[in-house]
Amino acid sequence: MKADFLCPNCYGFLNVNEKLVFAVKKKGQNGGVFLFSPSLGDYSISHHHSFETEDGEQVDFHCPICNHNLSVEDGDKFARVLLREDDKEYFVVFSKTKGERCTYKMSNNQIEASYGDHFVNHFDFVSALFFK
Ligand SMILES: [Zn+2]
Repeated sequence: MKADFLCPNCYGFLNVNEKLVFAVKKKGQNGGVFLFSPSLGDYSISHHHSFETEDGEQVDFHCPICNHNLSVEDGDKFARVLLREDDKEYFVVFSKTKGERCTYKMSNNQIEASYGDHFVNHFDFVSALFFK
């Protein structure tokens, strides 16, 4: 299966060499770069050791190409990217809070799949946000 992750603003590709690349920002700290696994539900992150985050802290995710803030409108606890998978398009919505494992793969009209230990906590909120 071929999967590409794209910025919803500039449509630049965010996946490089089996990693998903984000520019990240946090209050009181210089920016950094996070490398995610492109496998949904795999929460391993690589980043420079100087960029410290603690569980419960919120990080802002930006497109590394156009610097667009990937936060969800009206749902600032979440960020989203486009996923193009076998010619179909989805949104992938994930929590911006460190330690909160919560990811949703969404089509135009429903949540197609949920991932992470905490997806139940926000399922209704995210559903309501996108599918009023
Ligand atoms: Zn972009």
